[in-house]
Amino acid sequence: MSSIDPVARRRTFAIISHPDAGKTTLTEKLLLFGGAIQLAGEVRAKANRRQTRSDWMGIERERGISVVTSVMTFEYGDCVYNLLDTPGHEDFSEDTYRTLTAVDSAIMVIDAAKGIEARTRKLFEVCRLRDIPILTFINKMDRESRDPFDLLDEIEKTLALDTVALTWPIGRGRGFAGTYDLRSNVVRRLEEGTEPIKVSGPDDPKIAEISSDNDALLAMEEIELAREAQKPFDVQAFREGHLTPVFFGSALKKFGVQDLIDALAEFAPEPQPVAAASRQVDPREAKMSGFVFKIQANMDPHHRDRIAFMRVSSGKLTRGMKARLARTGKNIALNAPQFFFAQDRQLAEEAFAGDVVGIPNHGALRIGDTLTEGENLVFRGVPSFAPEILRRVKLGDAMKAKKLREALQQMAEEGVVQLFVPHDGSPAMVGVVGALQLDVLAERLQAEYGLPVSFESSRFEICRWISSDQPAELDKFVRAYPTAMANDLDGAPVFLAQSAFSLRYDQERWPAIAFTDIKDYQ
Ligand code: GDP
Repeated sequence: MSSIDPVARRRTFAIISHPDAGKTTLTEKLLLFGGAIQLAGEVRAKANRRQTRSDWMGIERERGISVVTSVMTFEYGDCVYNLLDTPGHEDFSEDTYRTLTAVDSAIMVIDAAKGIEARTRKLFEVCRLRDIPILTFINKMDRESRDPFDLLDEIEKTLALDTVALTWPIGRGRGFAGTYDLRSNVVRRLEEGTEPIKVSGPDDPKIAEISSDNDALLAMEEIELAREAQKPFDVQAFREGHLTPVFFGSALKKFGVQDLIDALAEFAPEPQPVAAASRQVDPREAKMSGFVFKIQANMDPHHRDRIAFMRVSSGKLTRGMKARLARTGKNIALNAPQFFFAQDRQLAEEAFAGDVVGIPNHGALRIGDTLTEGENLVFRGVPSFAPEILRRVKLGDAMKAKKLREALQQMAEEGVVQLFVPHDGSPAMVGVVGALQLDVLAERLQAEYGLPVSFESSRFEICRWISSDQPAELDKFVRAYPTAMANDLDGAPVFLAQSAFSLRYDQERWPAIAFTDIKDYQ
């Protein structure tokens, strides 16, 4: 262990990408650096690569529990890396957005043949909302790929993000021989076990020795052009989220991965201050604070054990300490906080700002919860998005209605679905962003509670959180629409609309009411 300041050595990051770009492969190779796993391939319990609706849950079962991959901590060089996994399927995007509130930087993986794809763009936009600094990895250079200038241009134009390539590919596809480090004039070779070669410049004849003459010539021209055209790399602009350093490589061949690890250590920000309702919380403050961004049901479906993933925002968490839960004002004892590695978990004796610990609990913790060492703080920014699909939950056995209510409450607290309880006493509604969430809900209600459910569409299609700086107007609005009002999990009022058209109509009629489609928890 290095003795440097624990905050300065932490890097907490996520990988964003379109499915198939190589996130899983890159994750495996990153973990190899930390010695967290012995063999590449162990992370991947995904036997079947194509995740279809029906096999998704089977895959989750096969993995046992996906907490194993929700956060992966490893140490390399002077740094402790916390890699937060995000679900690959877009139906679980809410989970991804919440996870992105807990990172300080992200690696954007792009398939060199495909460039920026739909989901990359969407996830990038979420990162941009919080100005999360992005490192770019252009993957699969060992395959047919697009022209590197084209790819850089596409990033600049479609994401409005400046790029600076810090490495450049020598050859592509079958001819891919390695990369040229634009800062140090070092050539790293694809061939395993080879040492980096220090060269005098892109015209050094040594480059032709490791690649074909044509590839060496092309690389030389491109590198010279890149050097002329590119701005110098500006760490400040990167940290502010305006500029991305770009690296080329092949995750499959574990090539270029070291560049990413080194860049995370060298440029990526240490744990940053976090905004609470009353003030900014600095990671170096002595007192522990943190927020829950993810809840995972535990392995045994018959116990209501959950793991709450908390990102430590400040201070030091020590095992056994008592922490104040802001929502209730009560203390809970952190007797068994855990760290997660690729295959393993371990009791966390201590954790620092930037670390993510799993806190086993029986339902005391919810998404968005703040825990502190006494201070009455509430962290903001774990968002909830207005669901795109609203359904009523239909239960065959009316005797079990109470059990269903409890179960839905639990599932909503875990963030599996959102729950809306209508004011008029009609059955509860669930809201999801992607249809797969409904499959997960049904599967879990059956497996964990013995409740076979189905879903019915309701006359409402849209919901919006409502607020107003004129309480009397809000009250009047709520009374005007008794059958279209519901409360969310936290008791916040929600307006249910039948269509986008009718919502617009009501918005125009009630200018004093704000209708929002994003809500910060608490
Ligand atoms: P994910 O969906 O983003 O997690 O992507 P995976 O890591 O599962 O990769 C998708 C497919 O691309 C798999 O078949 C990988 O073996 C393959 N792949 C990933 N990285 C590379 C690479 O650098 N080169 C080549 N040729 N294939 C790769």
